[in-house]
Amino acid sequence: MPSTLYGVPDEFDVIVIGGGPAGATTAGLLAQRGHRVLVLDRERFPRYHVGESLIPAFMRPMQELGLTERMDARGFERKYGGSLVWGNNQIPWNFSFIKGGAYAYAYHTRRADLDCLILDRARELGAYVLEEATVKEAIMVGERVTGVRYSLRGLDGVHEARAKLVVDASGQARVLARKLADVEWHEDLRNVAVWTYFDNCERLPGDEYTNILIEGVDEGWFWAIPIDKNNISVGYVTRSATASESGEALNELFHRELGNTTKLKKMLAGASQCAGFRTARDWSYHSKKFHGDGWVLVGDSAAFVDPLFSTGVALATLAGSTLTRIIDQVIQHPEIESQALKRYATAYSDFFDEIRTFVERFYDRTKYKEFYFSLAQEMIDPERKNEPSADFVTLISGLSGKHPMFNITLDDLIADASAAAE
Ligand SMILES: Cc1cc2nc3c(=O)[nH]c(=O)nc-3n(C[C@H](O)[C@H](O)[C@H](O)COP(=O)(O)OP(=O)(O)OC[C@H]3O[C@@H](n4cnc5c(N)ncnc54)[C@H](O)[C@@H]3O)c2cc1C
Repeated sequence: MPSTLYGVPDEFDVIVIGGGPAGATTAGLLAQRGHRVLVLDRERFPRYHVGESLIPAFMRPMQELGLTERMDARGFERKYGGSLVWGNNQIPWNFSFIKGGAYAYAYHTRRADLDCLILDRARELGAYVLEEATVKEAIMVGERVTGVRYSLRGLDGVHEARAKLVVDASGQARVLARKLADVEWHEDLRNVAVWTYFDNCERLPGDEYTNILIEGVDEGWFWAIPIDKNNISVGYVTRSATASESGEALNELFHRELGNTTKLKKMLAGASQCAGFRTARDWSYHSKKFHGDGWVLVGDSAAFVDPLFSTGVALATLAGSTLTRIIDQVIQHPEIESQALKRYATAYSDFFDEIRTFVERFYDRTKYKEFYFSLAQEMIDPERKNEPSADFVTLISGLSGKHPMFNITLDDLIADASAAAE
C-alpha cells in the first residue's frame, strides 16, 4: 500500500527523476525561480559516472547556477581545446575554444565531483533532494502523469509524491520514457567503448597541456582526458560489430589498438594503469517523443549521441536550463503546457540533430581537416560570415546558436498557444 513518507512533503510543482547533470540543473534553476521541486535519485552521491570532458556550451547553465567560480576554486582542470590525430594521413592538428565563441575554456573533471557539486547546488537553491530513492513508476490519472511512486533504500514500502509536471532526467535508465515513448537507435553509431585510468602519464606539450586528445586508429578512436595533474582517462571506441568480429575481449582489444597509436602511446609510455576496465555499448538514440501529458524528458533520457565531441553533459545541462524557462511559464500559464513543451522538444531535437549529423560525418576519416571545417560552415554559417575553422570550433563547442535552444521567450510561447487555440 503506497504511503506518504513522514516529514517529506508529497505535493510539488515539479518532480525530477534523476539527480545527474540534467536533473540537478533543471531542479536547481527551477528552485532558484521559487518553485517547489523534488529530486529523486537512486544513488548516493558522489557516485561514479563516465563523461569527464566538457565543452563550452556547458559553461552557460553553470553560470546561471552560479557554479563556475566554485569549479575554478576547486581546481577543476581547465580545457582550452583539443588535439587530434584524425583524417587523411593522420596528421596531428589542434583547435582552441577561444576561436569559436564566448568561452575560452570548459573543464575536465571527475564526474563524481562535478555531479555532486551540481546536485548540492540544487539543494542549496531550495530543491528537496532525496538520494537512494528509486522511482518505480508514474502515477497516472487517465492519460496524464501526476506523480511518481518510489522506494527508499533501507525503508519498507512504496511512497508517493505528486506534482504539476514530472521531468524524467534518469539518463539511460529512461524510467518514464521507457514506458511512454519508443526510442530510435542510430544505426551508424552502434559503437562500444572500453576505458580505464592511468597515473603518471606524460602530458601534451605547451599550449596543448590540458587539451583532450582524440586519436583515430584503423577501426576506431581513443580519447585521452587529463582529469588532473596526475590522472588521465583513456577510452577506446569502435563499432560494436567490429569488436564482436575480432573475437577478443574488450580489454585485449584496447591494448592491441593502443599499440597502433602514435601520440597516445608516447604519453602512456611511463604511465601505470590505476583502475579496472569499464565498458558501454550501443548508446546513440533519440526518443520518438520528448514530452506528453504531464511529463517531459531531459538529458540522456531524451537523446544521446556518440561521445566523439564530448557533448553529453553540455546538451543535458543546456536542455535543462531551457526546460526551466519553459516550465516556469507553464506553471504560471497551465493552458500553454502542450505547445510550450512542443517548442522545447523541437528546439532540443533540432540542436541534437545538428550535433549528431556532424558527428556522423566526422567519422569519415578519409578527409582533411579543411573538409570538416567547410562542413561545419555549411551547416551553421551558410552565409560564410566567419572563418570555416572558427565555425568548426563554434559547432563542436555547442554554441552555434542557430537554433532557438538558447532563446525561447515568453512571447514565443504565448504566440504558440494562441496559434494553437485558433
Ligand atoms: C562511453 C561514454 C563516454 C562519454 N564521454 C562523455 C564526455 O567526455 N563528455 C560528456 O559531456 N559526456 C560524455 N558522455 C555522456 C554523458 O555521460 C551523459 O550524456 C550525461 O551523463 C547525461 O546526463 P544525465 O543527467 O542526462 O544522465 P546521468 O548523468 O546518467 O544521470 C541520471 C541519473 O538518474 C538516476 N536514476 C536512474 N534511474 C533512476 C530511478 N529509477 N530512480 C531514481 N533515479 C534514477 C541515476 O542514478 C543518475 O544519477 C559519455 C557517455 C558514454 C557512454
